[in-house]
Order: sequence, then structure tokens, then C-alpha cells
Amino acid sequence: MSSVVVVGGGVVGTMHAWAARRAGHDVRQLEAEAEPRGASVRNFGLVWVSGRAPGPELDLALRARALWEELGEAISGIGFRPDGSLTVAQHPAELAVMAELVSQPDAERRGVQLLDADATRRHNSALRGDFLGALFCSRDAIVEPRQVLPALRAHLEAGGGYEFLPGRVAKRVEPGRVDDHTGAIHECDLVVLCPGATHHGVAAEFLADAPVRRCRLQMLQTEAFPERLATAVADGDSLRYYPAFQLPSAAALPPPVAIVAEYRAQLLVAQRASGELTIGDTHHYDEPHDFALDEVPFAHLLARAESLLGSALPPVKRRWAGVYSQATDDSTCVRVRPDPRIVVVTGLGGRGMTLSPAVAEATLEELS
Ligand SMILES: Cc1cc2nc3c(=O)[nH]c(=O)nc-3n(C[C@H](O)[C@H](O)[C@H](O)COP(=O)(O)OP(=O)(O)OC[C@H]3O[C@@H](n4cnc5c(N)ncnc54)[C@H](O)[C@@H]3O)c2cc1C
Repeated sequence: MSSVVVVGGGVVGTMHAWAARRAGHDVRQLEAEAEPRGASVRNFGLVWVSGRAPGPELDLALRARALWEELGEAISGIGFRPDGSLTVAQHPAELAVMAELVSQPDAERRGVQLLDADATRRHNSALRGDFLGALFCSRDAIVEPRQVLPALRAHLEAGGGYEFLPGRVAKRVEPGRVDDHTGAIHECDLVVLCPGATHHGVAAEFLADAPVRRCRLQMLQTEAFPERLATAVADGDSLRYYPAFQLPSAAALPPPVAIVAEYRAQLLVAQRASGELTIGDTHHYDEPHDFALDEVPFAHLLARAESLLGSALPPVKRRWAGVYSQATDDSTCVRVRPDPRIVVVTGLGGRGMTLSPAVAEATLEELS
């Protein structure tokens, strides 16, 4: 048995803590905030297999989905729901892209199926709007982002060999030790640094040459929707962003409307266990990021959701922005190994919630 210090209390750090405990190591986890506030609690909680690139990324997503399911069975607080998703087409060219995906050799592994409008309504009776059909993905799932981290930590604490230290900013990382801002020194055999989008500070020296950038997204949550959404929902604009849809037929997609182009918007809707709807999102890369929320894309996303649901949405309860770290090459994440006793893991992008358990498992396998 050896000792591991994980820096960062987001989903990537916490999944590394879980994977390290599973491998038999003693784990101490440091988090700068009193409770993590980063991307891991600001996301949709979508475990999103449907849009992953064919090959290694799809393999990793399917492994991650299996791990989420196992964790969801063992830890009820995670709120794992194998609901699947419907990506809804409102234009014939969108249906053509979905049909092409369904004809790919990996379609069965993705669990994808093309539905006409009536079958779409049978899959999710809350969808009563105007559309032509949808892509159903049975492998997509939902977890509860505000509950996942405390639930995982409680599970680890109950098993022993794990200690969570909130309110500790790691100021210095060296082989075999982490110094925090209180002056405490945490000695260990391995440091796993998972700083999320905090590319400055202690992570800066390790990420200086890494292919990584930051992306800011806008999100909102409504009051409880009166019906249960049987699946998560996406609109046809999402076909523009996910690598699985980069197929020849995608060239015939209509140009995005001006707001979608300007804000790189797509509609995703995930219903919380409480009935509230998490709705997003936008993508902004140029830094410095705006500190204020912009109303224009929210109005578009709400109108789009209403056009698919065919009914008025409940009032908006909260709005927020979130920032994630994203690898700029084809890698599924940025994994830097400046020393055999230090590994830095970030850059999982908009799929970090999905991939985190499998990325953590792979890190531990690589190290062993
Ligand atoms: C709005 C939004 C929606 C998204 N939706 C989805 C989705 O539905 N599905 C999906 O798969 N992915 C989604 N993502 C992406 C996913 O949320 C991220 O990839 C993932 O949460 C990143 O996790 P992380 O642990 O790397 O980062 P974070 O959650 O940001 O955690 C990093 C933590 O490290 C701590 N930290 C940093 N530096 C230090 C230090 N020096 N000392 C101590 N602690 C430190 C920070 O305080 C922070 O708590 C979304 C992201 C956003 C922003």
C-alpha cells in the first residue's frame, strides 16, 4: 500500500481518489473551497455516450458509463438514472445525419436508434412540439451534479483510508509532497493534481506547454416541470458540436441561426430528480471571460425548449456560468507526468462528468 494526495475536489479529483482507494492506496484529498464550486457542480449531470468520437473515446465513454452505473447502484446519492436521450430533429438534414450515425458499425454499441415523430412522442410523452423525429440513445444517462461529490466522499469516508480536507489551497507540489496555504506539508508516494480550469497557481508550471484552453458556458434551471421527462433532450444544433456527428451528411446541415453561431449554442435539457429542468448551453473561448451573464442566449434556449416541448416552461429559478478545461488536441484529457511521483489530470472538456471514472481508472492503471 502507498499514499496518494489528490489536489482538487471536483469530479476528476474525486474519481481519482475513488480509483486510488480501489487500488488499495491511502488517500488524502485537498480542496481549496469549503465545498467544490467548479464545473463538476455546475453541469447537466449528463453521462453522454451518444456524441462521442468513434474508437478510443467511445470505448472510454462506455467504460465510464458502466462505472457510473456500478457507482450509482452502490451509492444512491449519486442519482444515476439510465434514462437515455433524444436528440430531436426539426430539419430533414438533421434527420439525415442521425440516419447516417445509425448506419455506422458502432451504432449498436452506442445504443442508437432513429425514431419518427410518433415514436419520439411515445418515448417521451412530454415532447409535444413541432419536430420530424429523433435519435434515441439508450446508453445516455443522468446523475445529480450537486449530490455526486458529497455522496462519493461519504462512501469513501465510510470505507476508511480516505480523508477529505476542504479549505486547503495547494501552494507547492513536489515529488513526494504537497504544501498547502496553512503551511501544512502532506507527504506521500504520489501526487495527483486535478485543478480543473484553475490553470494558474500551483498547476501553472505543469500546464505551461500543455495543449489546453478554457471554455465558459451559460446555464439555467427552471422551477419543477409538471411532468417527468422520460429522457434527456437535445436539439439539432447539438449535431454541430459532438464528434460522432462529423459524418458526410453533416455538410448539408442548414447554417446556424445568428444567435446559435454567435454563442455557439445548443439546447440540452436534463431533468433533475426534483423535477426542475437544467437547460443550456453556450460556449465561449476568448479570455478574459465575461463575468456577467448574457440574456440573449437564454431567451433563445428557452424558446427552443418550448418549441420541442410544445408547452410553456416553468419560471426560471437560477442562472449561472461555468468554466471547464479542455484539451485542444485529439486527446480525451490532458495527463502530464512531470515526475514519476506527480501526475496532473485535467482538460476533459464538456465530457468530464461522463468520462471521469474511466479516466481515473486509466490513470491508476498507467501508474501501476
Ligand atoms: C456548464 C457546464 C456543463 C457541463 N455539462 C456536462 C455534462 O452534462 N456532462 C459531462 O460529461 N460534462 C459536462 N461538463 C464538463 C464537466 O463538468 C467538467 O469536465 C468536469 O466537471 C471537470 O472536473 P474537474 O474536477 O477537472 O474540475 P472542477 O470541477 O472545476 O474541480 C476542480 C477543483 O480543483 C480545486 N482546486 C484548483 N486548484 C486547487 C489548489 N491549488 N488547491 C486545492 N484545490 C484546488 C477547485 O477549487 C475545484 O473545486 C460541463 C461543464 C460545464 C462548465
